Amino acid sequence: MSCVSEYGSAPRRASTAVSIAHVRVGGANPIVVQSMTNTDTADIDGTVQQTAALARAGSEIVRITVNNAQAAAAVPHIRERLDALGLNVPLVGDFHFNGHRLLTQHPACAEALAKLRINPGNVGRGSKRDEQFATMIEFACRFGKPVRIGVNWGSLDPELLVRLMDENARSTAPEAASVITRRALVASALESAQHAEALGLAHEHIVLSCKVSGVQDLIAVYRDLAAKCDYPLHLGLTEAGMGSKGIVASTAAMSVLLQEGIGDTIRVSLTPEPDGDRTKEVIVAQEILQTMGLRSFAPMVIACPGCGRTTSTFFQVLAERIQSYLRNQMPIWRAHYPGVENMHVAVMGCVVNGPGESKQANVGISLPGSGENPVAPVYVDGVKTVTLKGDDIAGEFQRIVEGYVQHKYSPAPSASTSIKEPAETGG
Ligand code: SF4
Repeated sequence: MSCVSEYGSAPRRASTAVSIAHVRVGGANPIVVQSMTNTDTADIDGTVQQTAALARAGSEIVRITVNNAQAAAAVPHIRERLDALGLNVPLVGDFHFNGHRLLTQHPACAEALAKLRINPGNVGRGSKRDEQFATMIEFACRFGKPVRIGVNWGSLDPELLVRLMDENARSTAPEAASVITRRALVASALESAQHAEALGLAHEHIVLSCKVSGVQDLIAVYRDLAAKCDYPLHLGLTEAGMGSKGIVASTAAMSVLLQEGIGDTIRVSLTPEPDGDRTKEVIVAQEILQTMGLRSFAPMVIACPGCGRTTSTFFQVLAERIQSYLRNQMPIWRAHYPGVENMHVAVMGCVVNGPGESKQANVGISLPGSGENPVAPVYVDGVKTVTLKGDDIAGEFQRIVEGYVQHKYSPAPSASTSIKEPAETGG
């Protein structure tokens, strides 16, 4: 039986579970983080490199664009190269306009992919639309691949929109055009899913998304979609934007829906700065889920913002250093120290909130503020254990954190290794 959590969040919406290679999306499975490359897929080296970086950052599914014959031909090689690196992250092919032709000409592409993404607004017009959609579904069925029917505000099926607008115009109480557009997004996803099932695609091989770029629109559309089907939902604000605006808009929209139990996999669509790090979208997605208490990925650093009581930027530097250190250690720690992702580390700037916040963390340090003694008490599981001073406070604190991880999260030795065989005695 599902119940409301201690924080008042709604239970997860009931949905079918879809297998995307070894990753399960929907049902009672953890909410999955995914991302998308921005390389030219025909550039095998570049795409492998970026996919590997996204996977190592924690992306559990990676989508790549398949927009031409060179890209389609490259997909099996990308898969092979990732496998050779020991990275089994599922690849999703993003198809628009010519997917039917690319899959027909490059069946090995369909075989190498773990899922196909089809945008029903971009599969053709008129009679060709159904034919081309059917070809793509046929490939998904032939190779046993799930499909995301991914509707997008920017490429909404114009024929469907016109039909719903006409119906609305004839109605005795017409609604606003924005309401009809939102309804058309949901209808496009549901009608396409129904069509795909009629063509033979299994119900549990379908994931839906309806992405828009406005926060309130996204919330309204997904509430509607969630109420009308039990397909797992891929959640994301499309064209979220750059920098803090993209992060804030994605977080605002997704948090409301996640709190209502809506969303089975998420992607944060950030526009990177020129030469920016694509893995940022993975980190932000993880942080949304972790700060909401829905999943844990890496130890969290709690740091105060600093104020007039802080005499230098030292505590900011320390907070940054510890945060980078914890994240960089995670690929190794994840394998050796189960549960370490739940750890909290506090880095505080002065005595006002420093000791209190540090005591709440697994490991915390309260740095000296303006006019305080130049010493930094360290708290471990709520108890003051040492007071650091001198030039190497950062290094010493990092060593304390490392020692804590090794002590607290090392798996208990199994009975077979902890009980020593009695030594043989002669005679
Ligand atoms: S803990 Fe101290 S330094 Fe940090 S914000 Fe609060 S008063 Fe300012």
